[in-house]
Amino acid sequence: MKQDKAETEHVEHYLTRIGKSLDKYLRFEHQDALCPSATWQQELSETVPQKGLGIDPVIELLNHTVIPNGSAIVKPGFTSYITTGATTIATVASTAASVASPQRYTRTAFNYLEELSLDWLADMLQLNNMKGVYSSGGSVANLIALGGARQFTFEKLGIDVAAEGVNKPVRVYASEECHHTIQRSMGVLGLARKSVVSIDVDSQGRIQISDLEEKLNKDISQGKLPMAIIVSAGTTNRGVIDPLFAMGTLAKRHNIWFHVDGAYGLPGILDERLKESYKGLELAHSVITDPHKWLGASVGIAATFVRDRELLARAFTQEPADYLEGTVEASQHDHSTQSQQLKHSLDSFGIPFFDYSVELSAPCRGVVVWAMIKEIGVQGMRERIMRHNDMANETANLVSQHAQLELLGNPELSICCFRFNDPKVKDLNTFNQQLHRQLIRENNYLPSTTKVNGNLAIRPCYIGARTEFKHVQGLINSVVKIGRVLLETEA
Ligand SMILES: *Cc1c(COP(=O)(O)O)cnc(C)c1O
Repeated sequence: MKQDKAETEHVEHYLTRIGKSLDKYLRFEHQDALCPSATWQQELSETVPQKGLGIDPVIELLNHTVIPNGSAIVKPGFTSYITTGATTIATVASTAASVASPQRYTRTAFNYLEELSLDWLADMLQLNNMKGVYSSGGSVANLIALGGARQFTFEKLGIDVAAEGVNKPVRVYASEECHHTIQRSMGVLGLARKSVVSIDVDSQGRIQISDLEEKLNKDISQGKLPMAIIVSAGTTNRGVIDPLFAMGTLAKRHNIWFHVDGAYGLPGILDERLKESYKGLELAHSVITDPHKWLGASVGIAATFVRDRELLARAFTQEPADYLEGTVEASQHDHSTQSQQLKHSLDSFGIPFFDYSVELSAPCRGVVVWAMIKEIGVQGMRERIMRHNDMANETANLVSQHAQLELLGNPELSICCFRFNDPKVKDLNTFNQQLHRQLIRENNYLPSTTKVNGNLAIRPCYIGARTEFKHVQGLINSVVKIGRVLLETEA
């Protein structure tokens, strides 16, 4: 007789049952919820149960009430923000990790794949001589990179800032279109959100190098301490890449940490037509990318790459702890355990990723990235990235050819911003906002919106593995159709 009330075996049986409803969900046969009148909320709302029901009713509820009311993010026509559903192998691999290796530490195949997959990513994305560490998302990945920048900058002054604290205000330089996790990271690191110097962008949304130089020189002449120059390699709004080479050269001239935020856009380097845009990547001290964006991993997987990973260990060490250290043969701080002849997975912590970042407990993410790359290879990834870039270009073409549509910027990566425009429309921003709300209600094409030079734009971002060319044409047709109906009410 089992002592614990929880089921702890029969994974195959229950995964099969869940798998069936997940497949059904992905065929989009379910009644699409996402509307407030649905009854699922009533079905789920209850106070904490004192007595458990056993696993079967829980599986039933998952299958009938929870899964069918999941997210629109996985739909092929979903192009909002910069997020997408996981591919099948990513889903399966993360499930495998959750069962077979709950933690990324100790010397397991999973710990090994953490490192191997980071090296593969570095190779695939042309990050020569950089080592990585996974974290939960671009937010934390940026935090880790800027923690490295902080350590580097203060070590130049002879200060171990992680141990002793900040004794001098710093400045970092990023575009006004940079992701706001940069500001938050600075706040968390005790360096102040307001120390992010906002650099002007040109009409296409890229940093104006002259403004950067001017603001940097002024700060230096006033004795301020520049800590990092930050490139958005794929801005969140418009998907354009800042002048990477010029910014990297400037950073190098002043010996300032050079950070590339490629959370979304770094995989764009696989598209050789864009080679020039990524020139200067070799100048980076740190680079981040989110496999859970363009590469199709399950959410919760980002990577920070640096030239010197031991710097991260100095920035993020938690200091030795008896309950950890005492239990292994090889010291946690001997970071070369890969080569040692150890016989048991618990002989060593494996590669101590917990020392390079802010998470101790953390899932194995490497196995997911490894499995995705194994499945389709660099070639498969390249084809997907190029297809998505082509989709943004195709959107731009269709928009340009249509009298009632206006292109709001040439796409560089897989984002295209446009709007409905007709002389009869009185207020274009309000009109396009209404159009967008209606488009979302129809539930087939789900782009988000943004502002481009003050204009409300419809903004598809193509990163989904399920998204096909027909969804590009479908989106344009829907926008035109809804726009024309709205135009009648306008008159
Ligand atoms: C999405 C994004 C982030 C934040 O990443 P999360 O994974 O959502 O935390 C940071 N920077 C850029 C450029 C992004 O596009």
